[in-house]
Amino acid sequence: MPGDLAAEIARVTSVAQGKWAQARREEDLAGFLPVLGQVVDLRRQEAQALSGGGDAYDALLDGYEPGLTGAEIAALFDRMRPRIRALREAVMGAAPAPRLTGHFPKARQLALAEEIARAFGYDLDRGRIDEAVHPFSSGSFNDVRITTRVDETDPLGCLYSTIHEVGHAGYEQNIDQAYGLTALGQGVSMGVHESQSRIYENQLARSPAFCAWLYGRMVDHFGPLSVSGPEDFARAVNGVAAGYIRTEADELHYNLHIMLRFDLERALIRGDLALAEMEAAWNDRFAADFGITVARPSQGMLQDVHWPVGLFGYFPTYSLGNVYAGCLHAALRADLPGLDDDLASGDPSRALAWLRDGVQTHGGLRPPRDTIEHATGSPVSEAPLLDYLEAKYSALYGL
Ligand code: ZN
Repeated sequence: MPGDLAAEIARVTSVAQGKWAQARREEDLAGFLPVLGQVVDLRRQEAQALSGGGDAYDALLDGYEPGLTGAEIAALFDRMRPRIRALREAVMGAAPAPRLTGHFPKARQLALAEEIARAFGYDLDRGRIDEAVHPFSSGSFNDVRITTRVDETDPLGCLYSTIHEVGHAGYEQNIDQAYGLTALGQGVSMGVHESQSRIYENQLARSPAFCAWLYGRMVDHFGPLSVSGPEDFARAVNGVAAGYIRTEADELHYNLHIMLRFDLERALIRGDLALAEMEAAWNDRFAADFGITVARPSQGMLQDVHWPVGLFGYFPTYSLGNVYAGCLHAALRADLPGLDDDLASGDPSRALAWLRDGVQTHGGLRPPRDTIEHATGSPVSEAPLLDYLEAKYSALYGL
């Protein structure tokens, strides 16, 4: 990687991030495309430097998920897409889930979020919770901090984004102390990292069993709710709706968001799609997959910060995290009979110990896929995730 190229990427992506924020505010995609073109060109130069004549997209992907290729991800997504689309159609055709409405004071949301963070093993002696516009986690070893956000009309956003970030933070906090401050002392890849946040947030905390416990705590904190009981609350927590914004998507639509981005960015980096054609490609694909029409760039290809700052190859790691979480969840359930009884009393500790011993403590010891296969004893496959989604939504929506 030539030094002057690295310096130029740092300079241009820094400029591009500011211009992206402005372009998104002003819905000015045309004004942003020139600088985005510079970012794409620089990252393609980097990919050529790193790939030694190999696939440019794979070279970038390797920075986030070592050992995996774009072709493998394309094949994985091709297998996932029909079942997710079919399940989505079925759920969208069923009676919609109830919505949680009302006013939920900020201080009570934060108090309940901290209680749940502790229940999910977050060590506040080696971390802290603050507020930010976009929730994130940062740090490693003995200083792992998270942020959350509060909307007084939507307590689920605060609670579930907190649990998500606790999954990331728990991974870092639970790595073997002997690896601290060494190359092994951090999460092994973005995909494995996301598997921890997703399994905490979705397979554990959005399970009907845990929702039943959470319903009781919600009533304790906020008084009577707009939903009629624990079953309705679980349906509200697992509501499915087509929406434009990836970060607000449910478990079904989320993967469709990622597949769209992966196909477009891979074609772009490989030179099969021109930047000028990207918006039309995005909007066509979005209409086909989501059934709604993008009306503004901020609903479409300007919504995410990733491309403006040059993170090509990053998006698929989110869905990989879902796939890995599906594998881990199937293995964990087989090893831990009666787990729903624990979750129904607000206690995920047996599941957390399983994840800590199987995945988290090992940090960067094994390559990403080996990390998952070591924990589960089986090859990585999309089947457990799809089976889990079909079973959960069929039960919740009476399919
Ligand atoms: Zn995450």
